Amino acid sequence: MIAQLRLFATIRSRLFLKVSAVLSLVSLSVIIAFGLSPISQPTTSSSTTISEILEHPTSTVSAEDHSIEFVKEEKVRRGDYLGLILERLGVDDPQLQEFIKSSKLIKKSLRLIAGSRIRVIVKADKSVEKLIYFNNKSGVTQISRSGINRNFALTQPELSKRRYSKSGTVEDSLFGAFEKAGLDDRLATEMANIFSSEIDFNRDVRKEDKFSIIFDANYFAGEFINLDKIVAAEYVNAGESHKAFFFSSDKQPSGYYTPDGKSVKRAFLRSPLKFSRITSGFSSGRMHPVLKKWRAHKGVDYGAPTGTEVLSTGRGTVRFVGTKGGYGKFVEIRHSNGITTRYAHLSRYAKGMKSGKRIEQGEVIGYVGKTGLATGPHLHYEFLANGRQINPTKAVMPPGPSITQSEIPEFMNVMQTHETSLRVLANTAIVNVDYGE
Ligand SMILES: [Zn+2]
Repeated sequence: MIAQLRLFATIRSRLFLKVSAVLSLVSLSVIIAFGLSPISQPTTSSSTTISEILEHPTSTVSAEDHSIEFVKEEKVRRGDYLGLILERLGVDDPQLQEFIKSSKLIKKSLRLIAGSRIRVIVKADKSVEKLIYFNNKSGVTQISRSGINRNFALTQPELSKRRYSKSGTVEDSLFGAFEKAGLDDRLATEMANIFSSEIDFNRDVRKEDKFSIIFDANYFAGEFINLDKIVAAEYVNAGESHKAFFFSSDKQPSGYYTPDGKSVKRAFLRSPLKFSRITSGFSSGRMHPVLKKWRAHKGVDYGAPTGTEVLSTGRGTVRFVGTKGGYGKFVEIRHSNGITTRYAHLSRYAKGMKSGKRIEQGEVIGYVGKTGLATGPHLHYEFLANGRQINPTKAVMPPGPSITQSEIPEFMNVMQTHETSLRVLANTAIVNVDYGE
């Protein structure tokens, strides 16, 4: 708090210097970013980088000059195949096609994942100098001409691992807040996954919620390729702080722990739907506020498109699979300690679902639909304790297992270092917000 106030004072005194408003804004944000955070800040978002590169080819370049190289990039769409993407990129290079066809390994390393990107360096005659495939899942593949013969060769370039820290405030959605902070969607879903036993990110995200994360990620040519892991995270939900710290040792299964050394994973997930762009976009407004409806039908409704995966919130045994009146296609799972969960209005069930089947927490049991008494596609979820429906959003979950006593000192060491960073990060965000007003 004191540090925060001091910063305000600094900002104000600097403002009185009456430097050009724009200039001071820029320099101040630099001071805040680099002065406060002990860890370097991420570079600009990938989309900015791309547009800068694409600006290079200009109309003054003669198409006759074959030495000129253009950088072009395309995102892999659903149902895409390589030939189609190369066409969109304006590539016409039989030698490249031949090279790709020549080995199974090459074809495998170019297997397309929707949302990934393909960048080419192409000459005016449409031949390719270099092709880089930024695979969202497995890294980077590069095909480039080399040697005297200018033949193509396949390389898997080395990625550089870096640690970053970043924070932000929710205005309209969690994804929006991450985007604004220049962070990839995958970080938002991973953070939601870490806190999945504490926060229902499909329902509980509120304006003014705050996040701070410290993470390791793999980069190539200055661009985010994939997440290695989140090292520490804080999410302040409706004023309540949730923290998680990654910890692993020889005697301890690696995972995320609260500041007092308890696993953040508990017996039940807060939401039966995975947090994603699809579910987050759908639930806003439509089914809200559910708590008012709660008394009437003793369940929680999640608006989501037909076909969205439905997860079992806890480990247990299937007790019922089938159609049941107004519930439509329905699944009931029995858990330990007299807890039962119910999932209704499904469009279909997961493969192999039958009474008596053992189910793990987070396992897909079916898909959202609107069977039975439902006006639109949504999941009706019930949580029962000893046969009586209770409000799962208010159910108190027993804490997760603790870190082994002998490992506590080491954990505390790691945790306190990260907690200090998180605190600094959170303060940085506050200063930025207030300054902007
Ligand atoms: Zn319902």
